[in-house]
Amino acid sequence: MDHGATTRVQEHIGDPLSESPPLDRDDLEEIFADIQGDLRYDHELNGCLNCGICTATCPAAHYYDFSPREIVQLLWTENLEGIYDAMQEKIWACAQCYTCAARCPFGNSPGGLVMLMREVAIKHSMDSAKNVLRPFSRVMLKLISTGNQLAPDMINPDHFADWGPNISKIDAPLKLLRKAIPMPTLNTTATAWEVNLKTSVELYTIWEMTGVLDQLEGIDENLFDVITDIMDEKREDWEDFLDEQEDEDDDED
Ligand code: SF4
Ligand code: SF4
Repeated sequence: MDHGATTRVQEHIGDPLSESPPLDRDDLEEIFADIQGDLRYDHELNGCLNCGICTATCPAAHYYDFSPREIVQLLWTENLEGIYDAMQEKIWACAQCYTCAARCPFGNSPGGLVMLMREVAIKHSMDSAKNVLRPFSRVMLKLISTGNQLAPDMINPDHFADWGPNISKIDAPLKLLRKAIPMPTLNTTATAWEVNLKTSVELYTIWEMTGVLDQLEGIDENLFDVITDIMDEKREDWEDFLDEQEDEDDDED
């Protein structure tokens, strides 16, 4: 079959694109270019023997229709349609444990490559990314609007009823268990750390300037609107604080 332009790899192994690909070739190429264009790509993919050691040691492969060997082969052979297909479900099975990276004789990091594919799935607002991230909207709201992480005691059946019956599995006596941790600073489940207004606004600006918020808008527009409203107010508060400081300095002069 001839689909016009092919990559250098495809000239040697043939173009595996079907007669009716799920997207136009240009779109498939754009997705692959985004994965391949990441700085980490060349560090994490050095070749592939197709030996399967990564899959043999992968915990996710034991439980899901998922194989890091297959993911690496799709990328190595530049199988554009297969890459797109894997991004619709399979890449979300990886537990990001990086056992594969420790074992691969080629020094590949299949888990790292999966991470790149996930980031590109988010960038392209794929439905798979929307579905996977939907239950974490409150986590993202807290993280982006406060600069703080979710405190362990917030993960309970009352706050996460939509997680279904499995939430009861983490309904453990966290405060008691935390007291068993030797270091006193870790004896709390209340919060992670205090983030002041200036730091919160700076973190938000970083996420804004690096395109994270654009990606969030593509994944969950409502969440984006809520976060934008909260952070606009915080920015105003920070500007007011700076103005007050300036007035005080002027009075002293
Ligand atoms: S990624 Fe590494 S471990 Fe996995 S099949 Fe390829 S060469 Fe083998
Ligand atoms: S990082 Fe992902 S692909 Fe690698 S072993 Fe862990 S679960 Fe498997």
